[in-house]
Amino acid sequence: MIPPEAFSRRHEPSVRPLPPVEARPQATSGSDPAKSGEPPEAPTLDPEAWEPLRALAHRMLDDMLDYTAEIRRRPVWQVMPEAVRARFRAPLPAAPGELADVYREFQEIVLPYAGGNVHPGFMGWVHGGGTAVGMLAEMLAAGLNSNLGGRDHAPIEIERQVSEWMREVFGFPEGASGLFVTGSSQANFIAVLIAREAALRAGGLNGNGEGHLTAYTSAAAHACISKAMHMAGLGAAALRPIAVDEHHRIRLAELRAAVAADRAAGRIPFLLVATAGTVDIGAIDPLRDLSEIAAREGMWFHVDGAFGAWAKLAPELAPRLEGLERADSLACDFHKWAQAPYDAGFILVRDGKQALATFAVDAPYLRRATRGAAAGSPWPCDYGPDLSRGFRALKAWFTLKVYGTQRLGEVVARCCRLARYLEMRIAANAELELAAPVPLNIVCFRYRGGARDGGEDQDAVNARIAAAVQHSGIAVPSTTVLDGRVALRAAIVNHRTQARDLEALLEAVTRCGRQIAAAPAAGPSEAAG
Ligand SMILES: *Cc1c(COP(=O)(O)O)cnc(C)c1O
Repeated sequence: MIPPEAFSRRHEPSVRPLPPVEARPQATSGSDPAKSGEPPEAPTLDPEAWEPLRALAHRMLDDMLDYTAEIRRRPVWQVMPEAVRARFRAPLPAAPGELADVYREFQEIVLPYAGGNVHPGFMGWVHGGGTAVGMLAEMLAAGLNSNLGGRDHAPIEIERQVSEWMREVFGFPEGASGLFVTGSSQANFIAVLIAREAALRAGGLNGNGEGHLTAYTSAAAHACISKAMHMAGLGAAALRPIAVDEHHRIRLAELRAAVAADRAAGRIPFLLVATAGTVDIGAIDPLRDLSEIAAREGMWFHVDGAFGAWAKLAPELAPRLEGLERADSLACDFHKWAQAPYDAGFILVRDGKQALATFAVDAPYLRRATRGAAAGSPWPCDYGPDLSRGFRALKAWFTLKVYGTQRLGEVVARCCRLARYLEMRIAANAELELAAPVPLNIVCFRYRGGARDGGEDQDAVNARIAAAVQHSGIAVPSTTVLDGRVALRAAIVNHRTQARDLEALLEAVTRCGRQIAAAPAAGPSEAAG
């Protein structure tokens, strides 16, 4: 921890301080408060003295920078002791507390038990690692306390700017709209709503039980697609999960057959969702072929590119996303491979008017103007379900400007090279076996020791290995089920991950594997040693 007095010396600012504020007419009371009944001046929620707060604020900032800089010295993840968990059941605070005390509590009961995804040894699920730059942008955004629902202010111009850059990255035409949302789940949901709206306007429902809107995606698509269909009122059953090939890519012949069968049954194929980077193994659907099928069948073509879309930034990977530029909409997450802090999902819509047609509403308290603070329509709230919205765009703007598409693309490419290295190390290890191809940055594998009775035990052994390795604090892999069998899954997304982290993962997996196979009754934490 750095003493606050060291701050000014350690961090000579190289940027200009804020310009002095221009004098403006001070609000003064026009009348004698005692006589007019005007309420007296009262304390606000700002501190009475700023200096102690400033010192503590600097310390918090330094602590978080140290946390990030020294993250390797911490366990990736650790179990929260019951005594700590109990402290989250404290009574509702009525009386005010001291900020320093609250911060100490944060350091004691929150910081050590965070999710772990800042750590280079975190490979469970597809999580970004975050950056100090993104953290600072979050702080600045919170300081501005902007509401990006609408009106005329610079933060909205930042969101428009980032949207324009995204349009350029993904080769979308002018007139495309971009919108920050929580994550790709929400972005995919918005895409389903826009596609549904477009289909309904085209006369999709005829009201006599026929003409059900029907959507298509691969069996390897993320569960949020089916959830989106459910939430959109179309029903998860109106989504056809199409079988995948051995590379986990949608089978085109089966897709064509399903569309034809539905048409013959009077249904209306309205939406085709491709995945660029499946969550299980990182497979990329054949986007160009799918775009052609969608165009021929009059379906909305949406791409779930939650993390995989960022492969576009790596010249060696970008060709695999050929056809993405033809999508009607694209979902992707700045908080995954683009390393912005959570949350920062994004949706790009080819024809922004389609988004407006779905979401823009009129209300007297949202009246637009040509002059003043209510100018600048259409507003972000017209392109999605949210009215009040935070300034997520700022961390994306900082991230893009500080690292450029080049360095972000290098991170993406390096993660994929690390995945191929891990694949090679697993293939060379007799105790391990690969469970799926490695098209991008995700490696699925199994510990093969300890399998008895035709592999039934192997599922349990691998599930217990995952938990044991997590408990060890050395690495966090996750599990998935491939071809009905449990597999360990290492998703390499964090820009801090190095080859030595993969070695540590393999060492922990084989060590825990041997222990678990030797002592089948032991629980994961015992086996972790
Ligand atoms: C992560 C992911 C999602 C969900 O995105 P969130 O940002 O977690 O809501 C959807 N699809 C794919 C392919 C993903 O990897």
